[in-house]
Amino acid sequence: MPLIVQKYGGTSVGTIERIQAVADKVIETKKQGNQVIVVVSAMSGETNRLVGLADHLSKAPVPRELDVLLSTGEQVTIALLSIALTEKGYPAISYTGGQVHIRTDNQHNKARIIDIEKARVVRDIEEGKIVVIAGFQGIDEDGNITTLGRGGSDTTAVAMAAALDADECRIYTDVDGVYTADPRIVEGARRMDSITYEEMLEMASLGSKVLQIRSVEFARKYNVNLRVLSSFEHGPGTLITDEDETMEQALISGIAHNRDEAKLTIVGVPDKPGIASQILGPIANANIEVDMIVQNVGLDNTTDFTFTVNRNDYEKALSILKKTADKIGAKDVSGDNKIVKISVVGVGMRSHAGIASTMFKALADEGINIQMISTSEIKVSVVVAEKYLELGVRILHSAFGLEENGNVEEAG
Ligand code: ASP
Ligand code: MG
Repeated sequence: MPLIVQKYGGTSVGTIERIQAVADKVIETKKQGNQVIVVVSAMSGETNRLVGLADHLSKAPVPRELDVLLSTGEQVTIALLSIALTEKGYPAISYTGGQVHIRTDNQHNKARIIDIEKARVVRDIEEGKIVVIAGFQGIDEDGNITTLGRGGSDTTAVAMAAALDADECRIYTDVDGVYTADPRIVEGARRMDSITYEEMLEMASLGSKVLQIRSVEFARKYNVNLRVLSSFEHGPGTLITDEDETMEQALISGIAHNRDEAKLTIVGVPDKPGIASQILGPIANANIEVDMIVQNVGLDNTTDFTFTVNRNDYEKALSILKKTADKIGAKDVSGDNKIVKISVVGVGMRSHAGIASTMFKALADEGINIQMISTSEIKVSVVVAEKYLELGVRILHSAFGLEENGNVEEAG
């Protein structure tokens, strides 16, 4: 019998009526002849509410206690869903992360799963029960409750699917799949039937926040077929899988964007070994993540150095950089927190030249100035002024023919 893991996010279990609807969907899957394991999040808003309670008491709540607190959200939904399923005539049993031994390291609030003891779950599903598991939580070696970081229920679901060698891990959410661009920006954006793990990682890290990034990494590592689909509408969703198994061989899969960017520049830095680390060392020590980096030596033998950070870290990074500038004798420091990043993503890029030039030409034709560029094997990203975000995404979407799926390679 096929084994399906289903995961329902906070919105999908946000009210009693919705929990009833989830129960019906689970039963439907069971009736189709599958064994079913369900992973659920806390009811929408609940995890934030709990965080808020702790914040009233402390600026920095003890991480261990925060995990004890946050894990209660999911404990409510597993019990409610199991009650609903059993009431509808389908025996279900709920487990917290600790009860099914989702063993993690002891990094509270951002723990990583080490292994899962599957015996208990296997026994239950073989007895015909539906197993309902609390997402987002585990237990460390000493029996302390841990949580996996916000959005962590996705990772619980993928880890369960990997441990039990499930046929598919289905993530039900409030969107009906992964799109070629944000449909709120591009009217003609299309739902993709499938996308590779790598592409999804690029899309997710660039701000297409459909899944917790770590769950996609996990799925890639253990080769779990992962499907994103709507909990409110019927439809096939988007399958995230191996390169060999994707149906479309698109050159470019999608246009991703990220609004939360800021850039900082330090100019007139004496050009000598060790400068990059002197500039970025203090930034890293302040726990600020740096994304793109551009460095260039000018005719006068000084270096200009530009990098981007998350917009939330902008002020902090700027003040650190000013101190560094004084120390190393740089001429000036400047910054801009009204920038965004737009990227074209696609595994087809590996075997095709000319993607970057098509991209740059499309932007130039609209008079959009490119401030920074970076590339990886399957992605080209540019930084542009924030006011060009919508326009930029739209023109790139059509430049690569994504509306009509026009860039699918001809077979042979
Ligand atoms: N309830 C947790 C959160 O809001 C985990 C999840 O929903 O995936 O982050
Ligand atoms: Mg989520």
